[in-house]
Amino acid sequence: DPVSFDAAAAAAGPLAGPIDRAAVVDLLRSPREALYARADAVRRAHMGDEVFLRGIVEFSNVCANDCLYCGIRRSNPHPHRYRIDADEILAVARRMAGWGQTTIVLQSGEVDTPAENDRLAALITRIRAETPLAVTVSAGNRPRAVYATWRDAGMDRYLLRFETSDPDLFARLHPDCSLAERLHCLSDLRDLGVQVGSGFMIGLPGETLERLADNLVLVHTLDLDMVGIGPFIAHPDTPLAGQANAWADDPEMCFAAVAALRLIDPDLRVPATTAFDAMFPGVGRDLALQRGADVFMPNDTPGRYRKDYLLYPDKPCVDEGDGSCSSCATARIWSLGRFVGEGPGHSRKARPTA
Ligand code: SAM
Repeated sequence: DPVSFDAAAAAAGPLAGPIDRAAVVDLLRSPREALYARADAVRRAHMGDEVFLRGIVEFSNVCANDCLYCGIRRSNPHPHRYRIDADEILAVARRMAGWGQTTIVLQSGEVDTPAENDRLAALITRIRAETPLAVTVSAGNRPRAVYATWRDAGMDRYLLRFETSDPDLFARLHPDCSLAERLHCLSDLRDLGVQVGSGFMIGLPGETLERLADNLVLVHTLDLDMVGIGPFIAHPDTPLAGQANAWADDPEMCFAAVAALRLIDPDLRVPATTAFDAMFPGVGRDLALQRGADVFMPNDTPGRYRKDYLLYPDKPCVDEGDGSCSSCATARIWSLGRFVGEGPGHSRKARPTA
């Protein structure tokens, strides 16, 4: 009887007791259907049935970094490098509310120069002045003073994944920065009163169950507002070309990680990340929404730039454009018996004001 099963799942509630590696490993090893039902029940109890649409605009693929996994790393000569002009971004942003979206997510490669940082500050100011949207930025590591400028311009939230909790693996994958530097950025953002999102890739080569559990424990320790996790998918034009996802023989582990995330930190905003659709074509994001997630990020990047923002192969929606990702997302959400959230969908965590 699905109703009583659901009631039992709801009664189980979030993970109780100390959240350490052993407890999380047990959770990740637990029977999958019960784990998913429990995560879905906890998501409903803590976050409701709303799914917030946060439209992502990949406004530049110019990147000074050479992260070993990433398709837009600076050493990859294939993508045509672009920066979308502010007027073209504003033209999209003005239409987003009509597509049911309440947040714009501005994502890019990393270029820490005064000109680029000022350009982004001016863009945030215009979006806040000319649209009703909340603004999330995801543009990598910056000094605290730059984050402060963006906050003052109206930035509400920032996304910066820690990618892996293992400092040695982080160093091998990121020639340009350390895990400590990235965690320092997250702490600066928190101090500045910005809502903070982080996360990691699931199944980096060599990942063990213990390391996956450590990533989830770090999420818990950081006490974040939002956490995006998604499968690692090898890009053919990177040094990790041809490397299998560590969970290739048990791909459901990627969903188990989302479910565990919800049980470890029940009030988090959790996006059903795009990489789930690349790993599980056509169904990945729907299943993530049924196993703990409560946010969907339609791609609003103008169509002609999308093929140059391929972080990994088989990224969905590369041939779409003009709000079609949003209508598709809305249909997917309704088909799950859920509805599109109204209002900005800010963090559910109460924070002292900065
Ligand atoms: N430069 C910013 C940063 O690094 O935070 C934002 C852009 S970066 C391309 C966005 C995210 O893409 C990264 O945090 C990483 O987790 C993800 N990503 C990059 N390459 C990937 C791959 N091969 N498979 C899965 N996710 C990938």
